[in-house]
Amino acid sequence: MRTRLASALAHAVLGPPGRQRVRASQSLLALVAYALFAVLLLGWVYLHLVDRRASLWLMATYLSGALAFYAVIRSGFNQRFTSDPSLTLAQTGFGMLISAGAYAISGAQRGAVMTFSVLMLVFAMFSLRPGQLRALAGFAFALLGTVMVWKGATDPARYPPIVEAAHLISTGVVLAFVSVLAGRMGTMRLRLKQQKLDLQLALARISELATRDELTGLINRRHMTALVQAEQARQRRAGSVMAIALIDIDLFKRINDSHGHRAGDSVLKTFADTAREALRTTDVLARWGGEEFLLMLPATSPEQALHSIERLREAVAGARFDAAAAGLNVTFSAGLSACEGEAPIEACIERADQAMYRAKTQGRNCTVLN
Ligand code: GH3
Ligand code: MG
Ligand code: MG
Repeated sequence: MRTRLASALAHAVLGPPGRQRVRASQSLLALVAYALFAVLLLGWVYLHLVDRRASLWLMATYLSGALAFYAVIRSGFNQRFTSDPSLTLAQTGFGMLISAGAYAISGAQRGAVMTFSVLMLVFAMFSLRPGQLRALAGFAFALLGTVMVWKGATDPARYPPIVEAAHLISTGVVLAFVSVLAGRMGTMRLRLKQQKLDLQLALARISELATRDELTGLINRRHMTALVQAEQARQRRAGSVMAIALIDIDLFKRINDSHGHRAGDSVLKTFADTAREALRTTDVLARWGGEEFLLMLPATSPEQALHSIERLREAVAGARFDAAAAGLNVTFSAGLSACEGEAPIEACIERADQAMYRAKTQGRNCTVLN
């Protein structure tokens, strides 16, 4: 009950889960920080440590500014700024303006607000690029420097020039160091991002290598074994028939012997490309070994499967194997079996294999159903 209430509240204040919620909660966090500073400022006003009018103006400015950032993010308008949808640059820049303003009105309390800009820069470190962070550090230094020179010149009693000069130097040193660190952090983030990308590519390549036959680009035997088993389980549940065909290229050794091994490889590739075009997208062809291929035809009766194989036979007869040898004709023999009931898939493949050998003995270039 309480958790449901909390999630409803979070939904209302921060929006649905996702990136926008993260952005909304960050802007709300900034709003809370500003509100805390408002409490501090009110305390100083109460103790007559700071000018009341100036403090109230500053407070009204930053609270409405922070609210405006929250509203822009919560409404989704921020997504129009595609280069910085979190508005980090704008929010940090605004915070630095406010820090400089706070420094100008804080008098003896200014030491407390001097570090605000640095803190904001540290927050921005996690999302901005090194160049942007350096620009922000320069902006903060210029703002604070202007305020220090201005106050030192116009209000030397509360802002003695010698103290302001020391403040300016120490602020400059701290900002410089933080921007150097930010640069390193940015490089680190970029490297991590690149490593993640490299890993993703390597993983994709590894799974490609593990499941594909390199020469033909077809699925390899290991992956096909898993696929036929999974498909058989599915067919059993659905109560339908699946057909399996073993296809073997005829007299392939002769092609190798007469035209060379590379010509043989080229025949295998052309055969695979032709089959990919001729077969239905639901049928799966794998390189089972050497010049042998396993064809899986889910939810297909033996008659329909025969039809598909004959279509493939026509496509192969019409294909040009000129890359291997000019005018080369390639044929294949196929053994077909229907897989239904509880028989293991291995038995089904074995029957297709026997049928294929019968096709060879019957003179090749034909299909035998077992
Ligand atoms: P059949 O019609 O009875 O199938 O005769 P065949 O010559 O095709 O059969 P056999 O099994 O005697 O020969 C297959 C040949 O395929 C032998 C082997 O050197 C060759 N081979 C196997 N894998 C490859 C390969 O990846 N590339 C090439 N070029 N040849 C291969
Ligand atoms: Mg052969
Ligand atoms: Mg063979």
